[in-house]
Amino acid sequence: MDPSRRRLECALLFMLLGLLPGCSSPRAQPAQPSREQPAAAVNPITVDSTEEQIRRSVGTARVGRKLTPRTWPNGARVAVCLTFDVDNELLQRANPLPVALSVGEYGATTAVPRILDLLDRQQVPATFFMPAMSAMLHPDMLSAILARRRHEIGIHGWIHEFWPGIGDAAKEERLLSQSIEYLARATGKRPVGVRAPSSGFGPQTFDFVRKAGFLYDSSLLAADEPYEIVSNEQPSGVIELPISEVGNDYVYYGETANGALPSPDAVFAIYKAEFDLAFQERTMFILTQHPHVGGRRSRIVQLERLITYIKSRGEVWFATMEQVANYVRQPRP
Ligand SMILES: [Zn+2]
Repeated sequence: MDPSRRRLECALLFMLLGLLPGCSSPRAQPAQPSREQPAAAVNPITVDSTEEQIRRSVGTARVGRKLTPRTWPNGARVAVCLTFDVDNELLQRANPLPVALSVGEYGATTAVPRILDLLDRQQVPATFFMPAMSAMLHPDMLSAILARRRHEIGIHGWIHEFWPGIGDAAKEERLLSQSIEYLARATGKRPVGVRAPSSGFGPQTFDFVRKAGFLYDSSLLAADEPYEIVSNEQPSGVIELPISEVGNDYVYYGETANGALPSPDAVFAIYKAEFDLAFQERTMFILTQHPHVGGRRSRIVQLERLITYIKSRGEVWFATMEQVANYVRQPRP
């Protein structure tokens, strides 16, 4: 092929990859097209806002009671949750063309099976947050996860839609319901946990989450330990198992085909330091991975190294998010 044409094609491919929307990552939002911006009217906080207006503006989903127990099951010092957002092709909704789609399809064909083998070898459970249509596109992938009988499936939207961008409260609530119904049918169990696609919480999203009866949410980032969400100054009864950008593979690697640095070795060092302080503080450690991103060969090697390291510390409780939420909600003396 003519080298200049090849260069042009490469440049176009990289431009396309650069436009791919991020996943559970607020940092990825600027890369998203404008239609992913909030459509609902949200009043900004300005210098003219009153104290009451500012309080109301920030009040939708706040940190309430901290729920870290004095000790975790079996006397463990720390709870460890491995979580995977199974977005696959649905991050390419804007331009569903074969090459871009194949980047996500890798998640189902190769990365999830590899992750399941790793979890089998290590004998640890995980939580998979899955858009309903990811399950539809890959029934074999879902069956393989369920066949292990150790993992949890959580809600992650219908098509990985950005909830604040829907601009129609009834439609947003309906999409949440149909996602729950779809996964309940496909898995034989109603999911009890939710993680917002692209970290998108609209002004009413939390109301819908609460009304749907979720045991826990895992979209917010306001602490390093479980807490009860307070909404408009009222305890909601919904547990938050907060994520962190630092524990998210997407912010380091972006989309898999871009060959991004830092090296997986450096990412391991960050995750290890995060775990070490969680261990010291006796709280919890949640890792957020995307199979088609973190499931690449050089990266998953480091994930296994991390799990091996965590196990070597002892006094660790590997659990699904559901198990953690159920444990922390129990009243204790
Ligand atoms: Zn996602």
